Amino acid sequence: MVASLARGQTFGGQHLLEIEVAERVRTAVPSMETMRFSSSGSEAVHAAIRIARAATGRWGVVRFDGHYHGWLDTIHAAALEPGDAGGPARPASLGQPPEALRHVTVLPWNDMAALDAAARRLRGRVAAVILEPILCNTGVIPPRPGFLEAVRAWCDRDGALLIFDEVITGFRVGLGGAQELLGVRPDLSVFGKAIANGFPLSVVGGRRDLLDAVADNPVVHAGTFNGHVTALAAARATLDVLVADDGALCRDLTARGRALMQGLREAARAAGVPVLLQGPGPVFHLWITDLPEITDARHARTVGTRAYARFALAMVRRGIRLMPGGRWYLCAAHTDAHVAQTIQAARDAFAEAAVALTG
Ligand code: PMP
Repeated sequence: MVASLARGQTFGGQHLLEIEVAERVRTAVPSMETMRFSSSGSEAVHAAIRIARAATGRWGVVRFDGHYHGWLDTIHAAALEPGDAGGPARPASLGQPPEALRHVTVLPWNDMAALDAAARRLRGRVAAVILEPILCNTGVIPPRPGFLEAVRAWCDRDGALLIFDEVITGFRVGLGGAQELLGVRPDLSVFGKAIANGFPLSVVGGRRDLLDAVADNPVVHAGTFNGHVTALAAARATLDVLVADDGALCRDLTARGRALMQGLREAARAAGVPVLLQGPGPVFHLWITDLPEITDARHARTVGTRAYARFALAMVRRGIRLMPGGRWYLCAAHTDAHVAQTIQAARDAFAEAAVALTG
């Protein structure tokens, strides 16, 4: 990677590293028949939506409440109000023109009835359905059994394209991403974050027939830093580490994450604090609640937030800084010792905060 610095950073044409990374991505994620590189997840999402609209000749985009697909005007959307069964997307930021979201519909996650109703209402108008295959940006909420399959079937029936935003799940929950874990194949996917281990690289790709329109130029995807050499060198190095020992790193990350989840459950139980932990392991969410399950973003946002803040404060006092809100990530630098240390701190933090948490 360091050697790549001497070779130049941004080229006008293609270079070998792009092909080397693309081959590695395609081997890990078979739906990525061909792909293009850019720097951030937001712009790769933007490209995926543009490709889908061009390919279908439709404008409609369906997204789900609580999923995050970057901050750009055309996709960033406000949370649904309680009791809202879904409908036109509204801006989530000052300065975001409502017109930019004119063709975007937001649906509640994991709600089969809302999905069926939208399929009827929007028939023939949807270019793409975009989603985080495991919702990570508002709680960590896997699709309920059959939900992704139902979205896939809707897309197939209606001629819409299915886009998986694997910016968080990709190269994290498994070498083949959430699509491998869940066994549903999207038409287009977006990757970012973990693929280059901290360097700015994103990927949009999928069905070759869809991507060909970009290669032939009627669909524009531009960017000064697309295919940036250092970012691609980082991705090549990352992917080589990830595939070693038949994908041992992702398996270890999952095992260590699950051990941490289990340890946290036991620590909470010992202190008499009700907790709910959800997620595949490398990423998970901890709620302080006695709910047995959280399946939609609305609950994910509101359940036990004050209690969690108190717990997080008790953890900081023990030298462990948590992300606010309840989401946890593991990375390859975390060891079994870190996990044990965290569980020990949680045991004390739950006990210290137990009265406040349950009171
Ligand atoms: N999609 C998902 C699922 C994300 O989590 C993010 C970033 N948090 C993005 C897209 C946007 O990526 P970026 O911040 O690189 O633009």
